[in-house]
Amino acid sequence: MNNTNKYETLDPENWDKLKTLAHQMIEDSFNYIQTIEERPVWQQYPAEVRNHFSSKAPLEPNSIENAYKEFVDKILPYPMGNIHPRFWAWYMGNGTVQGALAEFLASIMNSNLGGGNHVAVLVEEQVINWMKEIIGLPSDSSGLLVSGASMANLVGLTVARNTKAGFNIREEGLQNAPHKLIVYSSSEVHSSNQKAIELLGLGKNSFRLIPVNDDYSININTLSQAIKEDRKEGYKPICVIGNAGTINTGAIDDLNAIADLCEQENLWLHVDGAIGAIAMLSDKVKPLLSGIERADSVASDLHKWMHIPFEAGCILVKNNEDHRNTFSLTPEYLTHETRGLPGGHLWFSDYGIQLSRQFRALKVWMSVKEHGLKRFGRMIDRNIEQANYFADLVKKDSEMELVAPVGLDIVCFRFNPGGLNDEALNKLNKEILMQLHERGIAVPSYTTLNGRYCLRIAIANHRSKFEDFDLLAREVVRIGREVH
Ligand SMILES: *Cc1c(COP(=O)(O)O)cnc(C)c1O
Repeated sequence: MNNTNKYETLDPENWDKLKTLAHQMIEDSFNYIQTIEERPVWQQYPAEVRNHFSSKAPLEPNSIENAYKEFVDKILPYPMGNIHPRFWAWYMGNGTVQGALAEFLASIMNSNLGGGNHVAVLVEEQVINWMKEIIGLPSDSSGLLVSGASMANLVGLTVARNTKAGFNIREEGLQNAPHKLIVYSSSEVHSSNQKAIELLGLGKNSFRLIPVNDDYSININTLSQAIKEDRKEGYKPICVIGNAGTINTGAIDDLNAIADLCEQENLWLHVDGAIGAIAMLSDKVKPLLSGIERADSVASDLHKWMHIPFEAGCILVKNNEDHRNTFSLTPEYLTHETRGLPGGHLWFSDYGIQLSRQFRALKVWMSVKEHGLKRFGRMIDRNIEQANYFADLVKKDSEMELVAPVGLDIVCFRFNPGGLNDEALNKLNKEILMQLHERGIAVPSYTTLNGRYCLRIAIANHRSKFEDFDLLAREVVRIGREVH
């Protein structure tokens, strides 16, 4: 049926024609994911493609068919790579085609999750309730889905600051703070926490980075000492950030020991669980995370080890009132009512920075409905097994070595044929990494631990097979010998 509206709108001019194209899009994109393994993990886009993106915005309509054709030619062939079974860089997830369909449905409804009386609010509320249950926080905790753990950390740390500052920070700001407010974490803490602390006006110098033990977990004695010293100086310690899976090595802090200390010292315990919190679904990891349920706030990432398509993160706060008091601000035009659309028992804009918010809960909700929590747990377990499998390959090979203990699904290693100093090895391993990427073989990432540059794989990948790690081990040694 053609669009019979006599006024110009943004709806399709010909619905039937668009339906045909939409079916084609589904066909193409499913085939694309089904055959993903046949293509390079990553490839540099050519100069011709780069130049393609410098044209001015068109002033008049063209057609979606043409725009789609450009997408297929110029965009789709050059993905970041994290949909591929041999992508293990930084810390990502694969996403799923079902998640993509759910995003489509959410966009069709185009509901705004800032607030109001509509059913999407119940979906987000239910997802948050599921997260509380997974992580072990009480059912009357509050929560919010956010873009990712960076935002979750910012929201959690804002509640921590406002609750523990000892004065009304929303009224007074930090301009006349009687004491310098101090936050603690390990030296392995993720940079998003420092960004949050800078944004909160506390300043980087108020963020104490405590040294770690050999397993890269925070040294509790040093932490305890640092808090005492700060008090002696007249500063006001407010919060400790515990790490449930560090970005470098997957290390988990002793969360119970930190929780004990926070209780004694009356400090807020925030847990950055971007990597590890969802691993509560794994029976093997769960005991290592003991104490996470004692946190005042927990940040988690659902687009990482749960493979929800970007973006999806979650912040939980144990004390609903603290959370609400930090963010709730209701002008007349947003007055909450008890009836009609301005009704509704829960306005998410009272719990975060955003007013307009996408319906990101739907893709999480549908994924959980489809797969069930146990399947996610099994996917996590397999990745951990694969990390240990690969670590064994490294240990068995006289030309490779581990650079840190395996933490969860993260392995840090390097090619080391012997007879080279660290400087030469750093250069050699960086070259190996670049060639792995540029030849499209595999995409590990890198980090530097105690001055030693290493290759690092973080296996949050539901598509990786054990054979993929055999291949990585072989190729690292092959390229390493070639370059050396
Ligand atoms: C990825 C990560 C973050 C940041 O999360 P985003 O989803 O990228 O915003 C924070 N902390 C840790 C430990 C992470 O691994």
